[in-house]
Amino acid sequence: MPDRPQPTLRLRIDGDALAANWRALDALSGDAEAGAAVKAQCYGLGVDACLPALRDAGARQFFVAHWSEVADVAAHVDPSSISVLHGPLTADDAIYARSIGAIPVINSLHQARIWSESGGGPCHLMIDTGINRLGVQVSELNDPLVQSLDVHVLMSHLACADEDSPMNRAQRDEFAGASVLVEHRTKSLANSAGIALGPDYALDLTRPGLALYGGVPRAELSHHIAQVAFPQAAIIQTRTIEAGQSVGYNATFTARQTMRIGVVSLGYADGYLRSWGGKGVLVHGEHHLPLLGKVSMDMVVVDLSQAPDVREGDWLDVPYMLHNAAQQNGLSQYELLTILGTRLKA
Ligand SMILES: *Cc1c(COP(=O)(O)O)cnc(C)c1O
Repeated sequence: MPDRPQPTLRLRIDGDALAANWRALDALSGDAEAGAAVKAQCYGLGVDACLPALRDAGARQFFVAHWSEVADVAAHVDPSSISVLHGPLTADDAIYARSIGAIPVINSLHQARIWSESGGGPCHLMIDTGINRLGVQVSELNDPLVQSLDVHVLMSHLACADEDSPMNRAQRDEFAGASVLVEHRTKSLANSAGIALGPDYALDLTRPGLALYGGVPRAELSHHIAQVAFPQAAIIQTRTIEAGQSVGYNATFTARQTMRIGVVSLGYADGYLRSWGGKGVLVHGEHHLPLLGKVSMDMVVVDLSQAPDVREGDWLDVPYMLHNAAQQNGLSQYELLTILGTRLKA
């Protein structure tokens, strides 16, 4: 096979910023240790690009959602440091957990049975304290299936940690009350936003995800968190259009005068959604280049009339400070990360 030609789209991951974010969140967790949520390929940024930095910064507990995500993470860290949040739904899941050595999070009596019948062993236990997603009900904790588990981390998950909601305190108190009902080694409650709620929420182990990758779910974190993901796209053609000519599908932009435009190798298939149309800008040095017309699957068009020096082949930065981008675009910071397409990481 010949070498692949240079791409026209790339995602720079700032590994130092990622490591610094983990260390900041670990410090903010006080006496608790910070783990790392690495589900969905490290929130879309890529396991191989992110895991080494998190591991080398000192993270020792990694959380994925699916069993299918374990192997990629296990290429970088000891499998026993990987927890699978969705838990074992089937006997096959339990057999897989056992053979690869990852730790299941038990979320229901059904999962407790599956795990016990497969031979049991170390597991984590998720208690539902109000989010009503995954987790054993507090009223089920006395069940012998739960009582017989070898629980290492007792967990719950906050529904509203990114808001000043009375639900935070209520969930914390519910979790504290429930935790006396099951033997366990350590407790874990806080996600990224939960870390900002302070030491009452950090317990023994925190589980940041979003903030590791540059997201700021609460203002308290803004000075501690740096941008990690920097998408860049190349100009693949420039052209000059005359007054009255239009740009892109449905001809939604029409030139008022002669102008130079640039066609950029970035589209909604790359996660740059059509919601950026009419408000997005791409950046070249000092120049902010507004989008013209609609976002296509593989291309956007930018206005080069204020940037005569920009040429075909030049790289443009895609502004991706998550907090700002989310406010402009209406997507959540989580969505902005996880929609980044595979061509960016080629
Ligand atoms: C995704 C997830 C986290 C991480 O949450 P962030 O808001 O991204 O910090 C923590 N715990 C559980 C159970 C999760 O599903």
